[in-house]
Amino acid sequence: MVLSGDGPPFGPAAYAARVPRASSPAPARSRLALVRRARAVNRRLAEAYPDARCELDFTTPLELLVATVLSAQCTDVRVNQVTPELFARFPDAAAYAAADPEEVEAIIHPTGFFRAKTRSIQGLARILEERHGGQVPRRLEDLVVLPGVGRKTANVVLGNAFGVPGITVDTHLGRLARRLGWTEETDPVKVEHAVGDLLERKEWTMASHRLVIHGRRVCHSRRPACGACPVADLCPSYGEGETDPVKAAALVRPGPARG
Ligand code: SF4
Repeated sequence: MVLSGDGPPFGPAAYAARVPRASSPAPARSRLALVRRARAVNRRLAEAYPDARCELDFTTPLELLVATVLSAQCTDVRVNQVTPELFARFPDAAAYAAADPEEVEAIIHPTGFFRAKTRSIQGLARILEERHGGQVPRRLEDLVVLPGVGRKTANVVLGNAFGVPGITVDTHLGRLARRLGWTEETDPVKVEHAVGDLLERKEWTMASHRLVIHGRRVCHSRRPACGACPVADLCPSYGEGETDPVKAAALVRPGPARG
C-alpha cells in the first residue's frame, strides 16, 4: 500500500530549502524532548506533504479492505487499475462470497498472487456475511482475524474508512522511526506502539501517510537524501545519506509517491 504527496512547490526539496540546514542533532535526552521532537517532525512533514493521503481508490470500507488486500506486493497504481471493474462486478460481501473464484482471479490477475488474494477476499467476505451482517467491522480485533488482513491492513481500514486513528507500520515507517531515533525496535507491533506513544492520537493516521511518503521520496533505505530533507535538523541520522544539497535533490523521487 502506498501513500502519496505532491510535487513542487510543496515537495520536500522545496520545503527543505526553507529550513535551516543542520548537522545531526544530539539524541533527545529525555522522553519529553523526544516527544517534542517527534511532533515537530510530524508538523514539518505535514508542511512538506500537504496532500498526503491514502492512495488507494475506494468509496466504502469494504472497497478499501479489498483494495488493501490487493495491495500486498503490488503498487497502488496497479490496484487502482483493477478495482473499478472489481467493485462494479462485486458490490458487496455477498457478491464476493458467491463469486466464481476464476472470475475474481481474472480481474485481479495484474496485482499478482491472484489465487491467494482471491481466497483471502472470498474468505473474508464469507466471514463478514456470517458474523457481521455483510459489513466491515470497526474493531481491530475483528479485522485482524479476517483472511489476508494483518494489523497494518486493519489500521489502514480503521484510519481511512472509519476515522479511527491508526499507525500503519510498513518498511518505510519502520525505517523512518528508527532513523529519527524514535525507537530501536524492528518488530512492527512494537514500532507501532513506540510511535503511538510519541505522537498525538489524532495524528496517527496522517502521520503514517507522511512518514511513508517521506520514506519513499527522500529517506530511501539505501541512499537517503539528507541534504534535501525537511526534517534534517531534527534527525539524529542526518549524514547517513547524501548531504550535499544539489546531489541530494537529485536523489529525491518526485511525487505523487506510488509504487
Ligand atoms: S533523509 Fe537523512 S536527515 Fe532525513 S530523515 Fe532520513 S536519515 Fe534523517
